[in-house]
Amino acid sequence: MSADGPVRIAAIEAGGTKMIAALCDADGRPLEQVRIATRDPQATLAEVRDFLDAAQRRHGSAHACGVASFGPLTLDPRAADFAHLRRTPKAGWSGTDLRTMLPEGLRGAPFAIDTDVNAAALAEQRHGAGRGLASVAYVTVGTGIGVGLVLDGRPVHGLLHPEAGHLWPRRAEDDALPGLCPFHGDCFEGLASGPAIEARWGSALDALPPDHRAFDLQADYLGQLAAQVILLAAPERLVFGGGVMAQQALFPRIRARTRHWLGGYIDSPMLSHDAHGRDRLDDFIVPPALGTASGLRGAFELGRDALRADAAG
Ligand code: ZN
Repeated sequence: MSADGPVRIAAIEAGGTKMIAALCDADGRPLEQVRIATRDPQATLAEVRDFLDAAQRRHGSAHACGVASFGPLTLDPRAADFAHLRRTPKAGWSGTDLRTMLPEGLRGAPFAIDTDVNAAALAEQRHGAGRGLASVAYVTVGTGIGVGLVLDGRPVHGLLHPEAGHLWPRRAEDDALPGLCPFHGDCFEGLASGPAIEARWGSALDALPPDHRAFDLQADYLGQLAAQVILLAAPERLVFGGGVMAQQALFPRIRARTRHWLGGYIDSPMLSHDAHGRDRLDDFIVPPALGTASGLRGAFELGRDALRADAAG
């Protein structure tokens, strides 16, 4: 930590449709923040850079930077293409080095990057719906489906990072949609993302009555995804966020389908009813406590961790 006054952290949430950049104080409160439409990489990243430059002139230089980005991404700091986007269907972005959004003065500062969903999982685990728990999964359901995993307090990396939105569901018999994923067709993202819902029903869920088949089908697919994540990674809480999850009516149905697909196999009190008949799944599959702020908060946490690691040598 710097001895010359208060700590500031630059935090950037890089999304496929928008970027949110902020200069934050030591507690993660944005001193200033901006929302930028995601266009081509050069123009978009230059706008982030210009914002950070101007914000640092007004509030003082940042001591570290954290980025929470859409993927796929190279997260291994030893790799030559660290912090680069890998092959992505998002036009023009494959191979982009996200560090080019940093102003000159920040290039040598402690830096950390993770996926938007891993960052959101980290923020929810530390300060949100997963507080007090070591292992939390964050599922976002929007233009795509992503799953972030924090296990024993650490975001999961390895070969790349988890991509559980591209696992496969058992398809419902009455679902004829081929699936929209350019890589797999009918993976979870291909069948249950926002664009898949619109392709199947001709509208988003918010334009459909709550007893429409669309809700049960959506809840079934997301219940299957929840069950698969529970079976594979054993999180202690599953947080569901993203645009599609603004439909709160999905939550009780997803819990019911999760229980169905687990088939009674996982014998944990967290998945059962308490002595008063209250369903503990109501506390297990939940919306984000940080609302839409978990990505940016996660980016801040990454930046602060990088600063602490640097100070510890
Ligand atoms: Zn896929």
